[in-house]
Amino acid sequence: MKSSRISGFYKKTIEERKALITEMHPFTEEDLAVFESVAPLAEDTADNMIENVVGTFQLPLGLGLNFLINGKEYTIPMAIEEASVVASASHIAKIVRDAGGFVTESTERVMIGQIQVVGCSDYTEAKEAVLENKQILIDAANDAFPSIVTRGGGAEDLDVRILNEAADSKFGKMLIVHLYVNTVDAMGANLVNTMAESIAPLVEEITQGKVYLRILSNLADRSLARARCIIPPHLLGTGDFSGEAVRDGVIHAYEFAASDPYRAVTHNKGIMNGIDPIVIATGNDWRAVEAGAHAYAVKDGQYTSMTTWYKDEQGNLVGELELPMSIGIVGGATRVHPMAKLALKLLEVNSAKELAEVIVAVGLAQNLGALKALATEGIQKGHMTLHSRSVAMAAGAAGEMVDIIAQELIKNNDIRVGKAKELVEKYKR
Ligand code: NDP
Repeated sequence: MKSSRISGFYKKTIEERKALITEMHPFTEEDLAVFESVAPLAEDTADNMIENVVGTFQLPLGLGLNFLINGKEYTIPMAIEEASVVASASHIAKIVRDAGGFVTESTERVMIGQIQVVGCSDYTEAKEAVLENKQILIDAANDAFPSIVTRGGGAEDLDVRILNEAADSKFGKMLIVHLYVNTVDAMGANLVNTMAESIAPLVEEITQGKVYLRILSNLADRSLARARCIIPPHLLGTGDFSGEAVRDGVIHAYEFAASDPYRAVTHNKGIMNGIDPIVIATGNDWRAVEAGAHAYAVKDGQYTSMTTWYKDEQGNLVGELELPMSIGIVGGATRVHPMAKLALKLLEVNSAKELAEVIVAVGLAQNLGALKALATEGIQKGHMTLHSRSVAMAAGAAGEMVDIIAQELIKNNDIRVGKAKELVEKYKR
């Protein structure tokens, strides 16, 4: 792909932007038709995806620009309704590319299937029995889904825990079997669930207990992706704020989130502002990613910041983000939704691992965008300016009036629907 560093993209018309990205990516006629379509997701496709369909729901699709990750250029498709997210991600990506870009890595893509066993006469013996039969269970799981083994994945390992062992436990004792499955390029929920269900009778036989739940865990902590950026302070200065002041402000903001769940949850929401739009745009299950990310943020006992920001010995600002990333480039809606297919083409990722790494890099960028604004001029100035068009529309403005009303709101420094309504009335007269 050509460089994703495009200046003034936001000033262009939608048609000009489409023309530009068509130059950058090898799109087919069919791909372009999806872009031109008024409703890319046909109702009959939607009707086959979920139940009781009466229509489809669209979101704006914007492009996160300037992303350089492991030396590779990326255009980031972002489906989101909130103003300023795409602008902020692109702004930070530009700073980080000037600092050499994001560096990412990830673990193997192993998902966890849980099997709950109750009613064992001796849980310790039952646990040992499962471990003794580990290979038999792994083989049985793979026999239930041989195609994933052919693809280079499949069940690889197994573990057992006993829950509620304490005599005064409020809940009943239970044995939990964890089946570890390499899902290759799929998120893997369906294949893991199939495996868990298929080995359940064998688990009952081995443990002499009764199996209840057989389901994927969304705490995908064996499918982690990490991103890091190192930014010299001279790239961070803005307005009256020196680079050092911005760096220190970002670190203070991080330390606040790291010590206080009330702040951490909003800090992390800002990270998910970057992550969800790309997860949604690529047809992935954003509830799964959200659930996994927040559970991982409490792994050490207190809900805390998903990111870490600190100063290195050279005085650079260093940011890191590690999250479970249960996404795929096949399966689910990724190859069914026409826009998701296009989004994956736009990204030019070759594996689920690569997509996972890109997603955490965008999350890290988004976090820095929010912290940089919060630690300097505050978030409202930039956010409300970009939000002014939505406010104008909410007040009834349409067509060319949207821009006129939005500009007027910014000029008056009063970006409220009430004020916009007054202006719309005045404009109509
Ligand atoms: P699918 O079952 O739709 O697709 C995965 C299948 O794609 C694989 O089993 C495999 O089947 C095929 N495939 C083709 N190429 C590859 C490749 N390179 N690597 C891996 N598999 C490949 O989806 P998932 O199993 O990924 O499940 C995701 C869906 O499950 C999402 O829609 C999610 O919303 C939903 N879900 C989520 C749950 C949760 O999060 N708790 C629970 C239940 C469902 P084959 O080898 O046979 O071709």
